[in-house]
Amino acid sequence: MAAKYVYFFGDGKAEGSAEMKNLLGGKGANLAEMTAIGLPVPAGFTISTEVCTEFYKNDRQYPAGLTHEVASNLKMVEDLMGKKFGDPANPLLVSVRSGARASMPGMMDTILNLGLNDTTVQGIIAQSGDERFAYDAYRRFVQMYSDVVMGMDKEALEHILEHKKEDRGVRLDTDLTAEDWKELVGKFKTKIRETLGQEFPEDPQEQLWGAIGAVFGSWMNARAITYRRLNNIPADWGTAVNVQSMVFGNMGNDCATGVAFTRDPSTGENYFYGEYLVNAQGEDVVAGIRTPQPINKAKKKDGDLPAMEDVMPDCYQQLVNIRSILEKHYKDMQDIEFTIEKGKLYMLQTRNGKRTAKAAIKIAVDMEKEGLIDERTAVLRVAPSQLDQLLHPSLDPKAEKKVIAKGLPASPGAASGEVIFNADEAEAAAKLGLKVILVRVETSPEDIHGMHAAQGILTARGGMTSHAAVVARGMGKCCVAGCGDIKVNYAANQFTDRNGNIVKKGDIITLDGSTGEVILGMVPTVSPELTGDFGTLMEWVDRFRRLKVRANADNPHDSKVAREFGAQGIGLCRTEHMFFEADRIAAVREMILSEDLEGRQRALAKILPMQKGDFVGIFREMKGLPVTIRLLDPPLHEFLPQEEKDIESLAKTMGVSIQALKSKVEFLHEFNPMLGHRGCRLGLTFPEIYDMQVQAIMEAACELVKDEGFTIVPEIMIPLVAVVDELKRLRENAIRICEDVIARYGVKVDYLIGTMIELPRAALTADEIATEAEFFSFGTNDLTQTTFGLSRDDAGKFLPFYVETGLLEEDPFVSLDQNGVGLLVKMGCEKGRSTRPEIKLGICGEHGGDPASVIFCHKVGLDYVSCSPFRVPIARLAAAHAVLMEQ
Ligand code: PEP
Ligand code: MG
Repeated sequence: MAAKYVYFFGDGKAEGSAEMKNLLGGKGANLAEMTAIGLPVPAGFTISTEVCTEFYKNDRQYPAGLTHEVASNLKMVEDLMGKKFGDPANPLLVSVRSGARASMPGMMDTILNLGLNDTTVQGIIAQSGDERFAYDAYRRFVQMYSDVVMGMDKEALEHILEHKKEDRGVRLDTDLTAEDWKELVGKFKTKIRETLGQEFPEDPQEQLWGAIGAVFGSWMNARAITYRRLNNIPADWGTAVNVQSMVFGNMGNDCATGVAFTRDPSTGENYFYGEYLVNAQGEDVVAGIRTPQPINKAKKKDGDLPAMEDVMPDCYQQLVNIRSILEKHYKDMQDIEFTIEKGKLYMLQTRNGKRTAKAAIKIAVDMEKEGLIDERTAVLRVAPSQLDQLLHPSLDPKAEKKVIAKGLPASPGAASGEVIFNADEAEAAAKLGLKVILVRVETSPEDIHGMHAAQGILTARGGMTSHAAVVARGMGKCCVAGCGDIKVNYAANQFTDRNGNIVKKGDIITLDGSTGEVILGMVPTVSPELTGDFGTLMEWVDRFRRLKVRANADNPHDSKVAREFGAQGIGLCRTEHMFFEADRIAAVREMILSEDLEGRQRALAKILPMQKGDFVGIFREMKGLPVTIRLLDPPLHEFLPQEEKDIESLAKTMGVSIQALKSKVEFLHEFNPMLGHRGCRLGLTFPEIYDMQVQAIMEAACELVKDEGFTIVPEIMIPLVAVVDELKRLRENAIRICEDVIARYGVKVDYLIGTMIELPRAALTADEIATEAEFFSFGTNDLTQTTFGLSRDDAGKFLPFYVETGLLEEDPFVSLDQNGVGLLVKMGCEKGRSTRPEIKLGICGEHGGDPASVIFCHKVGLDYVSCSPFRVPIARLAAAHAVLMEQ
């Protein structure tokens, strides 16, 4: 049988279905599905994504048979609509749109009103009885087609249009007459010929194939490539092309077009949320040129234009019914596009709506309660990475705020930064580590990189479904859109606020994406509330997951935050962070720079009570949950004084000459400190350091057990072990100290001694190392560094290049390199368990909070992951996803 490339839909019947997303793209599959469930969808057909793949495989040639299939499908559309493509008297016009497997808002190109030429426009005049409408549609088509298909600079035609309006002394497009538009079509075509040396195609067939080619071509345009890279979409998925008969929302005041979400995409509230425009084409709503009106009264603000509910009550009611049909059918919040032509409602699109993290959680929990989905589906509905948005601070309600403008609350969260007016500059500034707010009149797909780099986005024009709003929401960035209070002046690099005050490039502003407020200066923030729907969802999450989640925390405050976020213990307490505190760094330096054991012991005696105090605080906060404390790890040079005045004051305390101290500092300098005198190498050469730390840990534990009735099993962790004998010797020392402290306190305290696996040799010999270790914690930061031979401190200079140019799919310090470093982790687990089946296994590198890495950790059978406190909920959710994806 010949391959099938084209799938028809129309009049309640469709060859495709929602399950065929990979083949028909999201839009095509949903048009088919909507048609099949009886919704009013204009007839059309979808050219499959396979054609796109073949097209690129075969040097931009279409597969054989495609022309014939397109022709016969077009005939079916003609028959159904009772019109004919290219017919002078009764012409069929079509739209041509892209539609990839995953929705890519604004990334691909759309052409409307295709099939118009100097002859068919007469047919449209006859059909509609409206010459002005017909020529307006024609000029829109010429503008769109010449831009998207022919590569004409759209500004050039805009310019002619502006000129025309000036000539005629009018301000709005709507003030132009049929005659004006007719004349403009001619002028546009002349300009196109002059600029491109090519005629605008009159032949509808040529137009159709030009448009199809442009959609496939746009799959490889720079914007699409950037979007795919940012969203991890493979290039070989390809896009489908949807060809559909046109319906018009701009044929008069009984026509309209709109977009809606079946629930509020910002908050998740269960009411019908949408915007529409009377007498307009779909692009007018999304482009933000006219300010859209609300579809219903529920969210109508004073001063809003009349709602569709009042203006077109019958169509509104029909739309409300469709909303409930769609939600029952898709069991998810839908993002829909509709058009009303002469009082008749048509559905143009439905897809699962993009939403904020807050909305994702509310919708998932509500839909479970409404019986639409089960708990398992609800948990899978929330992407772990998305939670990040919720776990970050919002503006402190008690803080003083100088609100200078107000726009639409397009994407929640709060952000402060320097005002920057263009995407390239925003990206460059962010690379320098500056926090920026991108301010634009409106955004377009060309601004994606700047939006990505910015902390927040502010636009002067556009609604809640404008490009800026949709994209920011997807990125989880705060966004205030449609802020008509501000006037942006790109040339002067400034905007004026609602009082006429000037805000210049580089000035700091704060955005509140939840209220739409624009505030002058920096505003303090507060931590998020983690109860309500979030709490409910996390309860379900914890019921599903098997992998435990701990936190990396070094002080009582972080430990408390970690527990509030649901951490089941501490997987890594880096003791050196305590060493840096102002009241102890001097003693630490003294310890390092002492020439003899006696000097070191004297300094260590000063540190001991402070360390013990830290451990008491942490144990208390963790209320008996496991706590892994790592003995001193970093190279000593990190602690050394650099400034002259610090060296002088230290020399004084230690009673040595400045010169002597300087030469000691010089002596301790290392060429490659990350591979130098650090980790257990320090513990072996200066055993008194680890002795002091073990003593502090055990005294803290014994005291709490004895005086406050705690149950504590400290886990003492030895870093950077490469050979088993390092661990053996340090373990013997540690046991000696532990037993000594226990005997002194006269209490029973169990403890574990284990190691980090963070060097390839440790992973390769994990079976030997396990003979001396009661637990392993994979230190994947160092393990990545040493496996790649890639310095953690220097990688920033070139690693972004590797990721941007595709040499590496992702930064291996962010997401675990599963094929390389991951193999060492897997081997470490297997070898460790082969010697000691009950060995406790965890991970404490940064990867412990990265969703994909967490799923990997689940698969290789770790007992827990440990990550920064704010990422604990992300890891919990990822761990639940890991289980649910197994089934
Ligand atoms: C690691 O190496 O993964 C680790 C957790 O330790 P640190 O980042 O402190 O070197
Ligand atoms: Mg390490």
